[in-house]
Amino acid sequence: MEKEKEQRIARKSLYIMNAFLLSIHACLLALFAAFHINVMMYFNIASVLFYALSFLVLKKGRITSYIFTTYVEILAHMFLAVLCLGWACDFQLYFIGSIAIVFYADYFSVRLGQVHIQGAVLSIGSAVCYLIDFALTRQGWSIYALDENLVLVVKVVNAIVVFAFCTLFFRMLAHSAIYYEVELTQQANYDKLTKLANRRHMLDYLEGAYAEGKLKEEWVAIMDIDNFKMINDKYGHNCGDYVLETIAAIILRYSGSFKTCRWGGEEFLVQGSCAEGKPDYRLLENIRREVEQHEFTYEQQKLRLTITIGVAKYEDGMSIDSWIDVADKKLYIGKKSGKNRLVA
Ligand code: GH3
Ligand code: MG
Ligand code: MG
Repeated sequence: MEKEKEQRIARKSLYIMNAFLLSIHACLLALFAAFHINVMMYFNIASVLFYALSFLVLKKGRITSYIFTTYVEILAHMFLAVLCLGWACDFQLYFIGSIAIVFYADYFSVRLGQVHIQGAVLSIGSAVCYLIDFALTRQGWSIYALDENLVLVVKVVNAIVVFAFCTLFFRMLAHSAIYYEVELTQQANYDKLTKLANRRHMLDYLEGAYAEGKLKEEWVAIMDIDNFKMINDKYGHNCGDYVLETIAAIILRYSGSFKTCRWGGEEFLVQGSCAEGKPDYRLLENIRREVEQHEFTYEQQKLRLTITIGVAKYEDGMSIDSWIDVADKKLYIGKKSGKNRLVA
């Protein structure tokens, strides 16, 4: 996938994350202000400003700086919140939540080729803060003494926020992983220019069918564009590409009953099942004729093209290679005997 596209996806995900963090801190600011927990109120004013400014940092593409500063903010915020309000309010849950952010950022920093954020090292930072807070507040100590009902409310709110937060980030992480996997499989199996399956994908399919003993009444055909080099030489490589795309589209229109791929340069391989013991010559002839009759138009220039087709029926005992080789030899005969024909 192109770098810009990846960066767009990463940035969009980080914008969502930043908006989420900004909203959490704005809510906490309201809560602390309402209950006159001044230390945390002032801290949250700074945090809200920090997250508002972070949109600019993200806009500039400084993802690594954003992640590090966000991580430090979360740790400092939660460390102080536990000291101020005590262990019973469960602000320490955010240390665990911060691990989701750290690994999410780690994943994207690697994908984008930025500084590798050491997710595991940062997680140790979260664990250390958690344990220090635990030690300092273990006998119920806190800077502010809160009403029991308020502790209960804060506890529930914190639990909901951390669960929502982790769900959101693990979902985004899973979503990105699936997205990239689909994208990579597509790139590995399909030809970018013609959108047809590539040789590797077709061979995987044929070898699978061979291994399962499904190649009884099957045929393959290799289609090769005639005098294609001349098209490149005379009209340029882009025109050659246009021709390849157009011919692939013609073949695809017929591909309801057979499998097709770009076998190599200007060659296509199609594979289908025999009807009444014979390959579908009529269908292959129709493709050949359609290419022959198609008026290719490239930059106002009209050109005509033809293809030659070699067909081979699968015979018992053949390997995939020897089967395709037979089709190749038929193609060669077609080329030698004048091109623009089907040789069975
Ligand atoms: P024949 O009729 O005997 O098949 O001759 P030909 O000119 O079609 O075959 P040849 O093998 O001499 O040339 C094939 C050309 O296909 C050479 C190569 O530069 C061109 N080619 C291969 N892949 C691509 C591609 O992706 N795009 C373009 N534009 N040209 C390609
Ligand atoms: Mg060729
Ligand atoms: Mg050719």
